[in-house]
Amino acid sequence: MKRIYLQKAKTQIARPNTIRGINKQIVLNYVRDRSPISRAEIARETALQRSTVSAIVDDLQESGLIEDIGTGDSTGGRKPTLLKLKTGTPVAVGVDVTPQKTTVAVADLAGHVLEQETFPSSADMTFMTEQIIESVSKLARKYPDFELEVGISVPGIADQTIGKVLYIPYFNWRDWEIAAQITERTGFPATIENDANAIALAELWFGHERNRKTRNFITVLVAEGIGTGVIFDGQIYRGDKGAAGEFGHMIVGVDAPVTCSCGSRDCWEAHASEKAIIFRYQKLLKESNLSKETVDIKHLVALAKSGETQAIQALKETARFLGIGISNLIVGLSPQAVIVSGIIAEAWDLIAGELQCMAERSVRGDLPKTILRASSLGDSPTLIGAFSLVLAKKFASAS
Ligand SMILES: [Zn+2]
Repeated sequence: MKRIYLQKAKTQIARPNTIRGINKQIVLNYVRDRSPISRAEIARETALQRSTVSAIVDDLQESGLIEDIGTGDSTGGRKPTLLKLKTGTPVAVGVDVTPQKTTVAVADLAGHVLEQETFPSSADMTFMTEQIIESVSKLARKYPDFELEVGISVPGIADQTIGKVLYIPYFNWRDWEIAAQITERTGFPATIENDANAIALAELWFGHERNRKTRNFITVLVAEGIGTGVIFDGQIYRGDKGAAGEFGHMIVGVDAPVTCSCGSRDCWEAHASEKAIIFRYQKLLKESNLSKETVDIKHLVALAKSGETQAIQALKETARFLGIGISNLIVGLSPQAVIVSGIIAEAWDLIAGELQCMAERSVRGDLPKTILRASSLGDSPTLIGAFSLVLAKKFASAS
């Protein structure tokens, strides 16, 4: 049940077009989830009239969203034509900004990457803006006949309603107008989003089936810092100015091994981010009088998976702190699932036990257990997040 806000009533009132729009989204989602599927099957499943389904399918084919893929088995009469999402043509440009590298890529409607370019991120805002625009312009020149849209994922606070990145702590940037500048220079509409929110959207639309079917879940992105995305009743909870989900700064203990991006040593991020894992690893090596080689997180996870004691211990110790934060999220928001992403999730078998143990220590009585899972988005979750900003709009209901 949702309260009706009269300020918005004009745009939400159900005109005949609204009903057709909703039915169109439902048919498109049937093709997306159940393809190959015929018009007759869609009519049967939705209880829409066969003629209505056919008109909607024509419409969706004309918009380049779905296509015929030959005929299926007949159940008596003429063989039905089967439908699927149209793939292989460019739809979305994803711009994935991370502290170390930035990726600009183009994907089709199913989120398959058609081509991509990666360059090192720079702390110089003007230089980065120019590099990103040049990369997007290159795609624009290559695909002049396609109406592309751009989704931008950033490691900071982004306000979608005014299209502005408000703050990126890692670069100490404020008020980065990257979306408006891309649109001005390339003509493509552009949407920005915080990286953890973008990942949450990606899990909801492009993740494993069990994530797509979950209405309330939280994603925890463990990277340089810790970001969280809250999916509440099938949509992102952004809060005022897009600043919700900054749980990385909740206090989970004192004297963390490293400082948080905000300067504190009490924050969750200071106890459980990649920086904390690497610090613990170096300390363990020192205690064992082993060489203090500098490793990045990918290397450390690989060492742990190959059985190196110190790497395993550093991951497990960090997982305990990750679990404390997750436990707090569960107590406060009671999600059905918490999904962990980032390179640490590749060592899921090593960390799951510690996470589960801490998460279950809170007082929840007989309430159903929240499921903890590793992300299903592979090794570029924020890039898929950037695509999702564009692609989810094609499949989502407007209301
Ligand atoms: Zn902090």
